[in-house]
Amino acid sequence: MSKLILLLVLGFLAYLVFKGFQRAAVRRERNADGPLSSERMVACARCGVHLPESEAVEDDGRRFCSEEHRRLGAA
Ligand SMILES: [Zn+2]
Repeated sequence: MSKLILLLVLGFLAYLVFKGFQRAAVRRERNADGPLSSERMVACARCGVHLPESEAVEDDGRRFCSEEHRRLGAA
């Protein structure tokens, strides 16, 4: 009986290690070509804050950090 419990514990530990490796692999992939590392950063024309290009609000070739700053226009 105790051998069975030992087997279950070992199986569970192996499962945890496997899950840990999987998560690390996913994280590595994200770091390799995720949007955070590869996306171009742009500066807001109003306040100069840097943000990912996809999050910027574009207007007439200029980029802003928010809809409000787009409305206010370039400084
Ligand atoms: Zn701004």
